Amino acid sequence: MVVRLINPSHVSFGIGVITPRWLYVLAAATPRRFGDPVLVDETLEPMNFSTIQRGDVVGIGIHTGNALRGYEVGRAAREAGAIVIYGGIHATLYPDEPHELGGAHAVVKGDGDGVWGRVIDDCLAGTQDRVYEGGRIEAGEFLQARWDLLPPDSYMWASVQTVRGCPKHCSFCSVWRTDGQKPRQRSSDAVIEEIVDLRRRGFRFIALADDNFYPVTLTDLHMASRRKDPHQLDTLKALRAERFELMEKLSQLPRDMIFFTQITMEASEDPEFLNAMRRANIKGALVGIESVTSEGLKDIYKPFNATGDELVNKLQAFRRHGVHVLGSFIFGLPSDGPATFDATAALAEKANVTFAQFVMLTPFPGTLDFNEWEKTIDPENRIGGIPLTRHWLIPQSLRPKVYVPHPRMTPDEIRQRTQAVWDQFYSLPKIWNRSKCVPNLKGRLAFMLISKLYRQMYANTGIATDSARVNRSANWARVIAKPCRRLFAAPPMPELQVPGDVVRSSPAL
Ligand code: SF4
Repeated sequence: MVVRLINPSHVSFGIGVITPRWLYVLAAATPRRFGDPVLVDETLEPMNFSTIQRGDVVGIGIHTGNALRGYEVGRAAREAGAIVIYGGIHATLYPDEPHELGGAHAVVKGDGDGVWGRVIDDCLAGTQDRVYEGGRIEAGEFLQARWDLLPPDSYMWASVQTVRGCPKHCSFCSVWRTDGQKPRQRSSDAVIEEIVDLRRRGFRFIALADDNFYPVTLTDLHMASRRKDPHQLDTLKALRAERFELMEKLSQLPRDMIFFTQITMEASEDPEFLNAMRRANIKGALVGIESVTSEGLKDIYKPFNATGDELVNKLQAFRRHGVHVLGSFIFGLPSDGPATFDATAALAEKANVTFAQFVMLTPFPGTLDFNEWEKTIDPENRIGGIPLTRHWLIPQSLRPKVYVPHPRMTPDEIRQRTQAVWDQFYSLPKIWNRSKCVPNLKGRLAFMLISKLYRQMYANTGIATDSARVNRSANWARVIAKPCRRLFAAPPMPELQVPGDVVRSSPAL
């Protein structure tokens, strides 16, 4: 019997940008008595079902975006005689769906790290439950990923999680409802050990794959202080101090290591934190800018973001501290109009963001937006026989690009204008101009290659309606992904030691 863990994807690029961390964490959760699990990431290559033997255990992790492909994989695996178990955010939200559509024997809700071994045992004994509750495990129980199972020469960035959960409550995001609003922060020692393991193997680019790397803001501290709530204040201060401890340890790693994370814009008001990021070599951060108008920010419950010149100043503050911003913007908010697209493109340029992504508002399950949207949709509104309210089950070729009716723009207008902003931001002259942020010609050429790859992977395969364009983009991405990966590789450092203890400093309030 072989345990196989599969990360489903309907497109494969031969090379992956970031390691799908869940595969390697669940591999660590697989009891050693079952041998090493076989890991399949379909963003690299599609699954070869002829390798499945009767009695194998197949674990499939799904989010809403890859659920349909996940169900195809599950049905094929079950037909081949495997025991099929689902997990992931989407299976947590809709635990019956994998049973109805994906050939599931069992479904795990919540964090799989703790419960996975028992699920395999039960399935092999034929006594499995229909649904298991993995719950939310504490940070101390997070497992170190099994990086020894990584396929060689396949990924550009490795991924390490330092904190799970986010205290905010943005209406389009499911993280705070699935991972919780209480930050579960791993000890800096556990994080550093994993990073050192990766550097020994030749990874020098590491994504700190966190929901929000800045879980305690200066405003949170001031509010707790004003409320005269000493317990809450102490908890927040301890969380903040741990962040600084982690960054201090990151700064002691080899200087060729580069980190990237996700962070809220509030960090731009915290120079002490930004300075620590600079020392830690955290060179990039995805910042959810979402909207450039205050009406747009109100639409999505993100009032803590800024607009106008204040927004430009905040984004530039990251850059002044050596942190490049990947700005994330949403189009199709109720208050958006045709002028919003140009205003967004102009702001991205003025603020000098290094990379940007422009996504169309999509109601994802688990979000407040989805709950509201679902109430407005006629259950008889179907595409290809699938209710619109289960849009992730609609075949890719029939799937609409815009789901939320807009008061002033048609879906096609939103899609075309969004595509135009991608085209403008990633035009060759604009990329060349932005590439000045790297010091030499070789670096600038690498920057151009990576910008084009990013655009091919995320814009053209996601927005285009015509399947020829989608296929062309996927092929292009395959071609440029290989040389791009070489730019990220580094000689292994098998002798690298974990840095010694740091003295815990007390960051100021
Ligand atoms: S969008 Fe970002 S800040 Fe908002 S809830 Fe999600 S993770 Fe938190």
